Order: sequence, then C-alpha cells, then structure tokens
Amino acid sequence: MPDNLTRVSRLGFVNAYLVREDDGLTVVDTMLPGSAKAILGAAERLGAPIVRVALTHAHGDHIGSLDALAEALPGVEVLISTRDARLLTKDMSLDPGEPGDKMRGSYPGAKTKPTRTLEPGDMVGSLEVVASPGHTPGHVAFLDRRDGTLIAGDAYSTLGGVATPARANPRFPLVYFGTWHRPTALQSARALRALEPTRVAPGHGRVVDAPGPAMDEAIAKAS
Ligand SMILES: [Zn+2]
Repeated sequence: MPDNLTRVSRLGFVNAYLVREDDGLTVVDTMLPGSAKAILGAAERLGAPIVRVALTHAHGDHIGSLDALAEALPGVEVLISTRDARLLTKDMSLDPGEPGDKMRGSYPGAKTKPTRTLEPGDMVGSLEVVASPGHTPGHVAFLDRRDGTLIAGDAYSTLGGVATPARANPRFPLVYFGTWHRPTALQSARALRALEPTRVAPGHGRVVDAPGPAMDEAIAKAS
C-alpha cells in the first residue's frame, strides 16, 4: 500500500502532516509561525498541490502558519471544527452547559476564515473527522479510512512516550498544561483507542506504528 502520509516537523517537536489524495494534498495543522516554507517545500518535493488545510484545534502551535499558508495558496480550502472556529477568532467564551472553567494554552487567533467548518463524521478527502474534545472544546482527530492512520492532534502525544493530555507526562508536560478539560480528554483518548488505529500521528513527537498497547498504557496511567 502506498504511504499517503508525510510528516513535516520542526526539531522533532511540533508536527504538520501532508496527506496525499487523488486531487492533491491535505495539510493537517500548520505548526508555529514561520513554518509555511517548510510545509510548502515538502509539498513541492511530493510534486502535488496543497488543496486543503485542516486543523485539529485552534492552539497557536497548530494554527501558527495558517495565515502565511492561506496567503501563499489562494483558493485553498480551510477547515476546522465548528466549535474551535470560534477560538480561531479569539472568542474564548464557553458554550452553555460546557464543562471546565477557562481555556488553557495559547490562542493567538488567525485572520484566515474557515471556508467550511467540520462536524464529527464529516469527510476531508479520505480522512474522517473524529470528535476528540477535551484538550480544546472542539478538538478533532482525523482517521484515514484507507489505512487506519490516526492523525491525533493533541489528543495523544508521543514526545517522551505515548501519552494522553489528561495526565502530565513529566518528560513533555506542555500538552497537559494546555488542556481545557482533562476528564473529557480522557474519554476522548478511550474513544480514539477504540477505533483500533494502525498508527498514531501526533501533533508532538514521532509517528508510532501499532500503537494499541501504548495507548492502553497511557489511558491506564491517566485513569
Ligand atoms: Zn494543543
């Protein structure tokens, strides 16, 4: 099976992904500001145009180069969950009935507006939008239906070992400290595990193959 996933990473610390589709590439997450060149260069090496930018959530280390990419790619489709689209405009208010007290982590916002907002179950090319709230209220993961790759955003990280954002990983606590509602994040970690992904491609850290046992361990540690 051809590998449709390319990881673009800065210092192995923050990742974006390029997902190959018949009509071009989908970029998932845009890393920190100043990353557009690396993402555009990776697409050029793959020899395919970027046709979509899809975001797992609105934190600054995932949307940082959105404006620069949108500027470099006129007409590109820009996708984020309906809930986190509000955070992209720096509207930090909670929805009625939402748990948690306040947003955590950096929300610098972006000038770029989504061309479409996503709901769980929507498809972005071959990627199914999977609800995974907790790290942020509208966090989504993307499951590639062709090969079972789970692009997890910050619903799992693998830097310093596979971990959920529901419990501090002493070797990489950043994702935990940026997490809005930890019990919800733990529920989402369980739901993503139940999808039986063949590999997990996180926002931070390396891609991990056959991640089931490591995900089980991470869930057990946070439970
Ligand atoms: Zn985050």
